[in-house]
Amino acid sequence: MSDWRIETRCVQSGYRPGNGEPREVPIYQSTTFKYDTSADMGKLFDLEAPGYFYTRLQNPTNDYVAAKIAALEGGSAAMLTSSGQAASFFAVFNIAAQGDHVVACSTIYGGTFNLFNVTMRRMGIDFTFVSPDCTDEELMAAFRPNTKAVFGETIANPALTVLDLERFAKAAHAHGVPLIIDNTFATPVNCRPFEFGADIVTHSTTKYMDGHGAGVGGAIVDSGHFDWMAHADKFPGLCTPDESYHGITYAEKFGKEGAFITKATAQLMRDFGSIQSPQNAFILNLGLESLHVRMKRHCENGLALAEFLSKHPKVEWVSYPSLPGDRYYERAQKYLPNGSCGVVSFGVRGGRADAEAFMKELKVFAIETHVADARSCCLHPASSTHRQLTDEELRAGGVSANLVRMSCGLEAAEDLIADVEQALAAV
Ligand SMILES: *Cc1c(COP(=O)(O)O)cnc(C)c1O
Repeated sequence: MSDWRIETRCVQSGYRPGNGEPREVPIYQSTTFKYDTSADMGKLFDLEAPGYFYTRLQNPTNDYVAAKIAALEGGSAAMLTSSGQAASFFAVFNIAAQGDHVVACSTIYGGTFNLFNVTMRRMGIDFTFVSPDCTDEELMAAFRPNTKAVFGETIANPALTVLDLERFAKAAHAHGVPLIIDNTFATPVNCRPFEFGADIVTHSTTKYMDGHGAGVGGAIVDSGHFDWMAHADKFPGLCTPDESYHGITYAEKFGKEGAFITKATAQLMRDFGSIQSPQNAFILNLGLESLHVRMKRHCENGLALAEFLSKHPKVEWVSYPSLPGDRYYERAQKYLPNGSCGVVSFGVRGGRADAEAFMKELKVFAIETHVADARSCCLHPASSTHRQLTDEELRAGGVSANLVRMSCGLEAAEDLIADVEQALAAV
């Protein structure tokens, strides 16, 4: 199974039914699980045996789907979370505590930026934001003795910057910390960050993985490569006994392959309860079964729209990493040779008001706080998702006031282009 191509993994990995068992992943719609003896259950509480006791921590449906996502990314272990936000929070909070510090890319998704810059700062964790295009000197200068991780996005939402994964992995490893990559926009169909040195991958499964705008969810995948014990002084949560679990040392008991996800499940899911519902995990799995087919079409439509926009006189600029001439084209060819995503950003010539006028005329693209599903949609970040940011933060995040984010769905490219053409004509 480990040598299956990505297409086959999308369809078949994770749940493997036995003789006479259901062909499709069963939905374990149960909060709790029954045991014959207290001793049997006690083993679960001591993490001595694998198994289920309460869906706030783990559920079999979720674990089947998480196993598929682990197979897609080429990781050793994975977990589902209730949302992408929960995945980002857990991935960082699992290894960073009060008094610690994290280096993050300045172009990360606005919701993640706010989580880090406001909410996690309140928890006593400090962040330094660096441009994905910073110099090596700037990158190295961002690290401190208490730095615990580096965080970035393969393709940033909505700035569409492409991260030099190998360079950021090298810098993280030179400082004895893991690289955490939000791979939401690329999906493992187009990029598997572990192949370029990343250690942990997160997803908002709400986007392409679900792909139908049906269920909010997230996922965390561990590569199993990061040697926590080699940097035990930096990661006491993984490398010293957990008194809330009878003195277990996660990195010893579960090794490089299992420590990160076991700790995140046993401690963070137990205490925060940000579990994905088994119903949503089932819906997510339906999406994953066609992810490889859909990503191909999303990328074809994205490229066709980007090419059209790049020649239109009412368009000031276009950003699409797979468009020849794009600032990130060379990097995208290296990390995303089969396509990037269906999201295209561009600036309507004029400014903020012209961007809003253009969007009002669209008939196929709907205005939504969403991207990356079957139906095409669009958004003006400066007046919606990013309105809490200052002009300076907007600029650092790679978002200008006239930026319109177009998410190309699975419709015919000709219809998407005709829609944009008539809306631009009306501006
Ligand atoms: C949407 C998104 C998130 C947040 O995910 P939710 O599922 O909405 O919580 C995180 N990262 C990226 C890149 C996203 O696009």
